[in-house]
Amino acid sequence: MLRIHKLRTGAHYSRLCKVKGIVKTIIPRAYDIRWLRPSTESQVLLTFDDGPNPEYTPKVMDALDQLNAKAIFFVLGREVRKHPALLHEIVARGHVIGNHSDTHPMLPTLSAQGIRDELKRCQAAVADILGGEPVYFRPPRGAASPKVWAETCKLGLETIQWSNEGGEYGGRSGMDSNAIAAELGASLSDSQIILLHDDSQIAVDILTSSALRAAAETYQLNFDIPLSLSGAQRSHPALRTTANHTAEHRHTP
Ligand SMILES: [Zn+2]
Repeated sequence: MLRIHKLRTGAHYSRLCKVKGIVKTIIPRAYDIRWLRPSTESQVLLTFDDGPNPEYTPKVMDALDQLNAKAIFFVLGREVRKHPALLHEIVARGHVIGNHSDTHPMLPTLSAQGIRDELKRCQAAVADILGGEPVYFRPPRGAASPKVWAETCKLGLETIQWSNEGGEYGGRSGMDSNAIAAELGASLSDSQIILLHDDSQIAVDILTSSALRAAAETYQLNFDIPLSLSGAQRSHPALRTTANHTAEHRHTP
């Protein structure tokens, strides 16, 4: 069953997704899209794409600790293979690992087999290190299509898009991090999903800004990810164990 998590009124998502009309009409019926329903009000979910990065991911996690925040890290398989210890650290510090493809291609341009390979290589990269596969998925650049969702459905991945972005690489590129943080903080509202990237200093600067500290006093940033989004039978809130990836196959940090 395909599950796509996003907010009901995500203007940024609608603009960036590029399949707004399809999402709002055909896809929900065809793929049983589920809308993210936070368990309480005043929650904001922080998500980080494109890591893990040995220089910036630890700094992002330090900043998250200061905010008492937990996040989903949507990782790339190629980066996971380079930095296995960092993957262990993300999970050990209470965050959740998500699949962000293997090499960050525009998935809708690939064949079904190509899409499947991208998704499965990232799943395997994580499973080889942690002994379980991610449950959640975010397509690179948010670009998806029925062909992409068909493949995520086969793999049992639940897609999580976003409703509000830091915009370090998008519409706010060129702004300094304080200005981005101020705009982001001012635009926050209940139940938003925030997109940032843990492969540059900008995300660290945003998280340590006065605007985000103020937001952390208003909003709960340790979104209850496991209880809200994962199945009760899963042995780990972020990972699904597989028969092919048992403890014997795990790498040590
Ligand atoms: Zn990305």
